[in-house]
Amino acid sequence: MSLSLEERFEKMRLIRDRVLHLRKSPLYEYRIKHKYFPVVGEGSHVAHIMFIGEAPGKNEAETARPFCGRSGKVLDEMLESVHLNRSDVYITNIVKDRPPENRDPSQEEIDLYAPFLDEQIDIIEPKVIATLGRFSMEYIMKKLGLENQLGPIGDLHGKEFVAKTDYGSVIVVPLYHPAVALYQGGNKATLLKDFEVLKKYI
Ligand code: URA
Repeated sequence: MSLSLEERFEKMRLIRDRVLHLRKSPLYEYRIKHKYFPVVGEGSHVAHIMFIGEAPGKNEAETARPFCGRSGKVLDEMLESVHLNRSDVYITNIVKDRPPENRDPSQEEIDLYAPFLDEQIDIIEPKVIATLGRFSMEYIMKKLGLENQLGPIGDLHGKEFVAKTDYGSVIVVPLYHPAVALYQGGNKATLLKDFEVLKKYI
């Protein structure tokens, strides 16, 4: 049975509180030292589409909002291209605290924070999970029993995979991380094309 809006809100609030007090995280001291915030997620708790990035950067950790820096601008542009608003979707990351110097999240950090993401998926029950970058692609495809179809993101981006969950089937769409458009302009066209796939699920 799906949860009511109030139940979803309350469960998300409890996740935020647990992440806030996650003293055992290797990223906790760094967060406190820099007066950063954890970034739990943002958007509709009844979204059909859930976007999952990697980990917050500096802007995100300063504001507690996912994808609000330069990568976020690219993401906004992509959402706009398929006539989606941020308030229509849910945007989160696997790792909820900023890794120092924007380094890749470690396996230990992914293992520690992923259960929060799992709970968020169970609360929202998205019909489509769009992963942003290879970390969330690998995590989600393994979690949903698609590990046999895993490969380099260069081969899988923009494709659709059907997976089963306890709440029904879900489409997984691996997408490049929006930052790729910042490093190599040509990748923006690829991202725009891949986002088109989402149109039929809106
Ligand atoms: N990159 C991510 O993966 N997530 C954010 O929230 C911001 C940048």
